[in-house]
Amino acid sequence: GPQIEAVQSGETIFQRDALVPIYRDGVLTDVYWTYSYSPVRDAEGRVAGVLVVCSDTTDEVVSSSRLRSTEERFRHLFENSSIGFVLADLEGTITYLNSFMLNLLGYTAGEVAAGKVRWTEITPPEYAEADARAVEQLLATGRAEPYEKAYVARNGRRISLLLSATMLQKADGTQEVAGLFTEISDLRRAENALRHSEKLAAVGRLASSVAHEINNPLEAMTNCLYLLSTDLHGPDAPAYLALAQEELNRVAAITTQTLRFHRQSHPREVRFPDLLNGVLTTFQGRFFSAKIEVCQRMREAPPVLCYDGDVRQVLANLLSNALDASRNGGKLYLRSQLGTHWRTGRPGLHITVADTGHGMSPEVRARIFESFFTTKDATGTGLGLWITCEILNRHGASIRVRSRQGEPLHGTVVSVWFPFDAARRP
Ligand code: ADP
Ligand code: MG
Repeated sequence: GPQIEAVQSGETIFQRDALVPIYRDGVLTDVYWTYSYSPVRDAEGRVAGVLVVCSDTTDEVVSSSRLRSTEERFRHLFENSSIGFVLADLEGTITYLNSFMLNLLGYTAGEVAAGKVRWTEITPPEYAEADARAVEQLLATGRAEPYEKAYVARNGRRISLLLSATMLQKADGTQEVAGLFTEISDLRRAENALRHSEKLAAVGRLASSVAHEINNPLEAMTNCLYLLSTDLHGPDAPAYLALAQEELNRVAAITTQTLRFHRQSHPREVRFPDLLNGVLTTFQGRFFSAKIEVCQRMREAPPVLCYDGDVRQVLANLLSNALDASRNGGKLYLRSQLGTHWRTGRPGLHITVADTGHGMSPEVRARIFESFFTTKDATGTGLGLWITCEILNRHGASIRVRSRQGEPLHGTVVSVWFPFDAARRP
């Protein structure tokens, strides 16, 4: 009514997407219309009729309201989730952070909108390489494999995150990166605590096994000393004294040689061929009786600055493992030569200990560096490679173990790479 009256007084009415229910097939149906009412004038210029132009826009209205509600649902999801959602460009500007990320990093949505937050600047330098790799993958395949990284929050706190990223096409044809982040700082902390407590437990077990080992010689010494005290000048006194001395040496050997927990305080420059030959000599007899042929090749190389006692221990551990694995005889290759690190390419020295023994399964291979992991029942301690690893870490050295079982080729190859300045000068 009012609209028709307005048209009669000369106005034009225009409505977009107005709801005007109508009967369709006898059913009152919601229909949205875009329409106009315009006056039609007669020869004298009076409004004599109404021109109605209308179109049914119900489909558009319904689909755009569906779109809006889907968009709202997604927005709600992104805004209220405990997963970080980030939009950014490849050059480094972050264009969107959901509230989870804003809270985590300590920025405001305004700062992000103003382009003030740059992912290149809040990434600690050691993750720049991982980011560069991800960008490469994004450009090549449109997505990046999930990887771990960190951001530094405004307050300086470092936050560990797991990121997976994909490329998104924007309406204007340009591309942006969408990143999904899961915070893993707690996980990392828990993991570190676990590792720490595992180490403590390992040290505890170690202490009790040392106590057990030195108990026998101590008891023997106590007996010797008792006998000596009763018969200090008797004919057997020197023998008791010698026995006590021997037992004392055993204790010393257990604590220093077997477990190597004493630390050499000054590193020395040693020529590896000499060092290896020295250790090999102490094994010669055992290799001979186990029918193991030793093939050695030592190339001249500059000396290495290291804690040589510890490096001897490493070699002794590797040789004794090779011996244990070659109960039916075989060959043992011992090599030392100049060589670069297999990943970083840094120059240094390679030591290779290879045996033709029984090898190990992938399951065993995966666990050999764990403390107390042994497949040798009573004869093994499971500490050899664990200690080896600690020593190598301290020297900035790396170890690589390859092994295979079955016929005709079986055996284990252990390669160790040392930098020339494995220990720092005092
Ligand atoms: P242990 O020698 O006391 O068992 P290690 O830490 O030296 O402890 O070695 C752990 C385990 O790794 C061994 O029990 C063995 O199963 C495996 N292993 C190490 N070296 C070799 C090798 N050369 N050949 C086959 N298995 C090996
Ligand atoms: Mg061993």
